[in-house]
Amino acid sequence: MNVRTRFAPSPTGSMHIGNVRNAAFSWLLARHFEGEFVLRIEDTDRTRYVPGAVEEIIEGLRWLGTDWDEGPIYQSSRLKHYQEYAQKLLDGGHAYCCWCSPERLAEMREEQQKAGRPTGYDRYCREDSHGRSLDEPHVIRFAMPTQGTTVFTDAVRGEFSFDNVLQDDFVMLKADGYPTYHLASVVDDYLMNITHVVRSEEWISSTPKHLQLYHALGWQAPTLVHPPLILGPDRSKLSKRHGSVAFKDYIEHGYLPDAVLNFMALLGWSPGDNREVMTREELTEAFSIEGIVKHPAIFDIQKLDWINQQHTNRLSNEDYEAEVRRHIRLCETHADKLPENEREEKLSVLKRFEEMFDGVDPDYRSEVIALMQSRSTPVADFIDYSWNYFATDFDYEEKGLKWLRDETAPGYYEKLEAALEATDWASPAREELHALLEEQIRSVGASVGREGGAVIHPVRIASTGRTVGPSLFEALAVLGKDRVIERLRKARQKSRELSAS
Ligand code: GLU
Repeated sequence: MNVRTRFAPSPTGSMHIGNVRNAAFSWLLARHFEGEFVLRIEDTDRTRYVPGAVEEIIEGLRWLGTDWDEGPIYQSSRLKHYQEYAQKLLDGGHAYCCWCSPERLAEMREEQQKAGRPTGYDRYCREDSHGRSLDEPHVIRFAMPTQGTTVFTDAVRGEFSFDNVLQDDFVMLKADGYPTYHLASVVDDYLMNITHVVRSEEWISSTPKHLQLYHALGWQAPTLVHPPLILGPDRSKLSKRHGSVAFKDYIEHGYLPDAVLNFMALLGWSPGDNREVMTREELTEAFSIEGIVKHPAIFDIQKLDWINQQHTNRLSNEDYEAEVRRHIRLCETHADKLPENEREEKLSVLKRFEEMFDGVDPDYRSEVIALMQSRSTPVADFIDYSWNYFATDFDYEEKGLKWLRDETAPGYYEKLEAALEATDWASPAREELHALLEEQIRSVGASVGREGGAVIHPVRIASTGRTVGPSLFEALAVLGKDRVIERLRKARQKSRELSAS
């Protein structure tokens, strides 16, 4: 069998984690079986259409690397197919026209609620058109069987059985000629030869409607796959407080696409062994419907961070650099959506960083990357953490200024400058240099009566502008003799100004 799956989002807002997980599962399934993956935009509900949503979907899937073989196919451009099959269902006695006004339907619903009965269309027009003509506005409803049950087996959750009489005679085609989800998705899944439908569990309750449609049209239904719900770590419905639910936020934070795909795949699927960190190829190879679990998946942002860290550590220096550059491009593109003043500021920060990043010697750049790569995940952090390694002028972190305010600091810096100037930085191997720098700094510190943090912190703030960062001696070795001495000199001056004021 040629496996064909599809991702069928509605452009009604931002893509959220649940949508993307379904897209990832559909894609992995298609790729596992070397089948095809179709992107279909379900844009038939014109009242809920959000401009820009389609672009966001496309950008998101491209970013994630879940490439599609067909599409995007827009349902709004396929109305004739839905109309044709609605007519077939009318002709076969499986559907009927309904002229009931919204007012009548509202009244009916109110009465049903008052009487404590299930709400649903009362089939007023099913047997009788009440003298109405086809020229008057009307919808087309599906005539659900009023007896028996609809039984189906979900590939993940097993068998379900629904009483037909409790199913609504749902609207298939609206008065404006647009289909509802039920008709459009059944027709398209059939016409597009979709073999496996992976979709959110909210659709389970509509499945009897779909199966009755397939039956009435004489078609075989695809395999239905409803992966589990995604909950927060506290097992409540996923919401902002568990981290953002909007996918674009993860893109903007600079997570790696491979890490996000890995994380998404584990939201309700397991390879059946202990593996957690998996490449795209490993995921594709291992993915199976059997590995999809029934119990809710837990969205834990710390796990995403951990997986992202593991993927980041595996990147080569060049690949990490490429990720940094890719991230900058992406932020520039996204800046378009910011208010004007924020946009200007954001773009100028990115431009400044890129100039500095490009302006240094490539060997130095790659040393800074090696120093920062494992600490800077997501990659957006790299810009912030490495900024002062590239800048010739930077502000000291407020918290660290106390080391400069100390009136004995200028003297300490001066001695350090002399000692480090007299040190041979070039000959020793890297590890030896770290030890040598440590020895020098500790002995200068001791000579001026400094101990513990008072030895180290003033050097860190002077050389990196920060109070925290990688091992100080490694950082100094990367910065190199000239930068370090220059920075100590600047700190000495600043310290004089501060302690004098
Ligand atoms: N357009 C539907 C949604 O976004 C698709 C459901 C499906 O995959 O069939 O929920």
